[in-house]
Amino acid sequence: MTPTTLQSYIAGRWQGQQAHQALHSALDNQLIYHTHAEKIDFDEALTYARKQGVPQLMALDFQKRAQRLKALALYLMERKEELYEISHLTGATRPDSWVDVEGGIGTLFAYASMGSRELPSSNVLHEGPAMALGKRGGFAGTHILVPRGGVAVHINAFNFPIWGMLEKFAPTFLAAMPCIVKPATATSYLTHATVKMMMDSGLVPEGSLQLVIGSTGDLLDRLGGFDAVTFTGSADTAAKLRANQNLIREAVPFTAEADSLNAAILAPDVTPDDEEFDLFVKEVAREMTGKAGQKCTAIRRVIVPEQYADAVGERLRARLSKIVVGNPKVEGVRMGALASMDQHRDVSARVEMLARGNEVLFSARDGFNPVGDNCGSGAFFSPTLILCRNGMVNDAVHDIEAFGPVSTMMTYRGIDEALALAARGKGSLVTTLVTKDPAIAAHAVPVAAASHGRVHILDRVSAVDSTGHGSPLPQLKHGGPGRAGGGEELGGIRAVKHFLQRAAVQGSPTMLAAVTGEYVRGAEVKESDVHPFRRWFEDLEIGHSLLTHRRTVSEADIVNFGGVSGDYFYMHFDEIAAKDTQFGKRIAHGYFVLSAAAGLFVSPAPGPVLANYGLDNLRFVAPVAIGDTIRARLTCKRKVDRNRTDEQGRGQGVVAWDVQVTNQNDELVASYDILTLVQKRGEAQ
Ligand code: NAP
Repeated sequence: MTPTTLQSYIAGRWQGQQAHQALHSALDNQLIYHTHAEKIDFDEALTYARKQGVPQLMALDFQKRAQRLKALALYLMERKEELYEISHLTGATRPDSWVDVEGGIGTLFAYASMGSRELPSSNVLHEGPAMALGKRGGFAGTHILVPRGGVAVHINAFNFPIWGMLEKFAPTFLAAMPCIVKPATATSYLTHATVKMMMDSGLVPEGSLQLVIGSTGDLLDRLGGFDAVTFTGSADTAAKLRANQNLIREAVPFTAEADSLNAAILAPDVTPDDEEFDLFVKEVAREMTGKAGQKCTAIRRVIVPEQYADAVGERLRARLSKIVVGNPKVEGVRMGALASMDQHRDVSARVEMLARGNEVLFSARDGFNPVGDNCGSGAFFSPTLILCRNGMVNDAVHDIEAFGPVSTMMTYRGIDEALALAARGKGSLVTTLVTKDPAIAAHAVPVAAASHGRVHILDRVSAVDSTGHGSPLPQLKHGGPGRAGGGEELGGIRAVKHFLQRAAVQGSPTMLAAVTGEYVRGAEVKESDVHPFRRWFEDLEIGHSLLTHRRTVSEADIVNFGGVSGDYFYMHFDEIAAKDTQFGKRIAHGYFVLSAAAGLFVSPAPGPVLANYGLDNLRFVAPVAIGDTIRARLTCKRKVDRNRTDEQGRGQGVVAWDVQVTNQNDELVASYDILTLVQKRGEAQ
């Protein structure tokens, strides 16, 4: 192919014409692209992000941004084959590319869905509940999270050019933070193709995404305290960037995901006859060879009981010898190439260091012969397994990361030594513990968790559905302490919160309700002749409230409720036993109080309330005894417009209602939120 010059997308323009650094195919080292030579004006890029990106993103709310992410994910998914085709040049097999292409797009889907379920239809996220700060009810406090108004710079490693970008872009986008993405140069052509597609979709608001091909120049020196930097790459580069004087001076948040020497531990209870033994071997082989070992989560250290080292070694050798390496387009190929010849040189040098004083159990010497045309010039590397019998005193095996299909097996005596070996990685992204014994898991996992961002427990039960040692999931935190960079990514909506600013807010409940967009107990309520359940979604206001009539609870209520529910618990039915309880007498069922409250506040005729789909935060605060008189206050607490329609095409929104049930002394006896779907007026007319 004729090499083209990749362009950066800065300030709304694709920029750069002159060829600069040559980029080669991992498969045959052919020249495929150039980076551009022109320097980027990062002042212009930042101004553009701040002046265009921030307002455009803020014009949408959390819910609308979530919808936009979903539309973008659908758009990319329809065009995924174009990305697979380019991904092939990085040396990736189809399953490797699946992780990058569809794993990346899947992350957009996941954030679209989590955003829609968990975030408000505004730009203020209330982290409640509000708490009273004084005795007279006039002063309260709470927390809110708001968009920072700054720009996120995302610097990525070469191994997942799409996933790496999208897993950072999705939470930032939800948080209304424009981003400037900088892929690793070696595989930047794949990120380039993805960003081009995203811009062509017309779904990415102006200024919210820019792409840097090549150097970041003085970009980091221009950032301020409301901006953020995220980094994925080597520990050395992380250390260098973290020390940037401007980032330190301006207190710019810097999140790093660095290389780590992840481990897999075969627990002492597993013998070579167990299914778990083979699961362990399979997982190690898969993690060594998937993406040719170029995964930040790959298993670098294989920790096995001393007595089983030979058995594990043999089975691993048998598996590795069956892995066909070569051009992934050739039928039967299971492992592709490293991303570049530079990587090849780097991995070779590190294997040499790792092998010093250790045995090499499997390597190119065991018959390495990549298949496919011109593979001789490609960046193919043999799976390599090293055995270290003195892991407690050998530093190199816990320190040197060969970013390829390379692992070191080490032996232990007793699970505590195994855990000590794992911890010698000084902080890793993930460890897998293979055991059949819950007691070993209960002992080992809390210890391993101190130095690992994720612990994957594998046995025959979990293996059926396990997503594997190496897969970070959008729902679960990715990132580890110490050497792994100390950062946190993903983990559901936590990742969005990382890019929002948390502020404590103090004031009267009415003020807090106005600021948070949520009713806060003690705030003024709005009462009228219209029952809140008879208002359309658009007409409902936070604070619309109903104080119901009263109802005296009788013994007949308790008896009837026992009959209906079948709940004859002594506290409701046994006068003598009830005398000995903390209440000293029979009390009504809590669920009766809940049901009776519904009877007090519902407006029974058909109306805008379409469904009641649950309740949150239920507490039975005080007992209700025979003869007590209860009433309920129902207040519109929170409205979320998810821009949804039901099957009949009726527009609807989610409304949470605060319910307080009180007794004749105005004491709170039950407290909860009920969750409803409320129809919109627009579609009803
Ligand atoms: P790298 O050399 O550290 O580069 C990472 C990124 O930093 C690249 O985009 C690189 O750009 C950029 N960079 C380097 N120097 C820079 C500077 N002075 N200013 C601004 N940006 C700079 O790592 P890599 O070789 O791409 O990736 C492999 C490493 O990443 C492995 O060690 C692996 O373990 C680690 N990794 C970690 C994770 C994780 O989640 N923890 C994930 C993937 C990879 P250029 O390419 O243009 O130099």
